Amino acid sequence: MKKPEYIYFDLDDTLLDHKRAEKAALRDIWYHYDYLRQISTVKLQTEYQKVNKLLWDEYGSGKIDRDELQRRRFQDTLENLGFDGSVHREMGRRYMERYRMHWHWIEGAEEALKDLSRRYRVGFLTNGFSETQKLKVRKFGLDRISDHIVISEDVGVMKPDPRIFKHATKLAGVDAASILYVGDSWTSDIQGGAAAGWNTAWYVKEPNGEEAKKAQFIFSDFAKLTAKLLD
Ligand SMILES: [Mg+2]
Repeated sequence: MKKPEYIYFDLDDTLLDHKRAEKAALRDIWYHYDYLRQISTVKLQTEYQKVNKLLWDEYGSGKIDRDELQRRRFQDTLENLGFDGSVHREMGRRYMERYRMHWHWIEGAEEALKDLSRRYRVGFLTNGFSETQKLKVRKFGLDRISDHIVISEDVGVMKPDPRIFKHATKLAGVDAASILYVGDSWTSDIQGGAAAGWNTAWYVKEPNGEEAKKAQFIFSDFAKLTAKLLD
């Protein structure tokens, strides 16, 4: 892998542990509403994740808007599990409050970001809602590291749409081939980045053989990424 001139980082499940926060917030929801005890926390988490993924796909392709996504992720989850879906608004608000309480760095990511940002220009490129992602940026001091923060809701398209990569490339002010993208998602980050002409470093526990060939670098430990880029 040749040394990049610029490094973009994905946020959710690359630098910050979104999945853990989501699970913990749903566990809090399960504790809060007595009637949910009829099912297990795992059942609630599994159903929510299934519904949420479907809705994000529809949102990404422009079939539904943000309000519908936010309403239906709890309404559909509850109804699919045989409960009254009309409490979706209160539950959604409570979920977001709890979700924000459970944000943490991915192990090793904070140190890696600190070390790499001393040597390289860096930025952040993430899918998600502007308000939520900006709260993460402030909470973890990412805005002190770079003011290049690209959020899909602000741009109007989501990764892997090439337009968001093009926008980020322009912001970085270097050639696409000089950018390295560090991300965890095969489709959004690695395929999306590769299609934009970026190099990619894939943060993944167990890559499958065929997929792995697309990324220039694969790692499951941030110390390895730092060692590779600072050697
Ligand atoms: Mg991610």
